[in-house]
Amino acid sequence: MSNAVIQLGPDRIRALMAHYAGSRIERNAPGVVFAAKSGGVSITAYKSGKVLFQGGGADAEASRWGGNASPSSPKAAPKGEKLPSGLARMSILGSDETGTGDFFGPVTVAACFVPAEKIALAEELGVKDSKMLTDAHMLKIGPEIKEAFTNSVLVLPNEKYNTVQAKGWSQGKIKALLHNQALKHVLRKMDGLKPDHILIDQFAERGIYYRHIASEPEIIRENVLFSTKAENLHVSVACASILARVAFLEEMDRLSEKAGTRLPKGAGKPVDEAAAKILIKKGDDFLASITKRHFANTKKAAMLAAKRSGRS
Ligand code: MG
Repeated sequence: MSNAVIQLGPDRIRALMAHYAGSRIERNAPGVVFAAKSGGVSITAYKSGKVLFQGGGADAEASRWGGNASPSSPKAAPKGEKLPSGLARMSILGSDETGTGDFFGPVTVAACFVPAEKIALAEELGVKDSKMLTDAHMLKIGPEIKEAFTNSVLVLPNEKYNTVQAKGWSQGKIKALLHNQALKHVLRKMDGLKPDHILIDQFAERGIYYRHIASEPEIIRENVLFSTKAENLHVSVACASILARVAFLEEMDRLSEKAGTRLPKGAGKPVDEAAAKILIKKGDDFLASITKRHFANTKKAAMLAAKRSGRS
């Protein structure tokens, strides 16, 4: 079980109590002023200002509140560089991507700026780690996030993806270029206003990231931080993650309609099955136009399709 202890001032304790008010539980231990259970994490606040987070996700939950976390399970802590303390309550421009592991559908990247004074609003909208939210919930709050925060959402259609992939671009390079572009767009819209930091949900280490985009005309470098699990570190990354996911889902709907069948996500067996059917009905070029062609699923689908036609 993972534990984290942080020390907070009275204001922050009050904010914490308000935040978890709906998940409050009774705990009559000495010195305890407040206790709650949220998700799998037990939160206990003491008179001394000490707050104890226990359970899976404790480190991430604690890091939302800044303070000096002392995680007792370093394995669960995010990887990346040393991050400034109190990051969770700063004005941050966050970015994240999705669709990179899905055979069908695009790669999407989003960047979203959440200033300190609007963190509470983002939390009110129900923005959490997007990995814990259902697609339906994300589709519902996506437009609200777009309305409330300066953002940029980029969709790399499959045909474009396949073209650059065939030129030798790695997924890392594709992602880095899109992140850089989305961040650039948001900064432009912010019109001179600067975030305290930019936080990229880390898919490559800093050096590799910047090597990928070395020949770009404009490279976003100032105050950039990298961390894995960044969606747990600042709500702006969680917002970006949701916007990227919503764009992916919308494009999947559009492609499903085009294909005449509901396209499955991921890259497993159901994907091979669906791809084989589409291949038989609509041919090679069409299949390529809605997939990441270099995935092993292309060959598997061709084998399945050949077997089927042999049988019929
Ligand atoms: Mg990510």
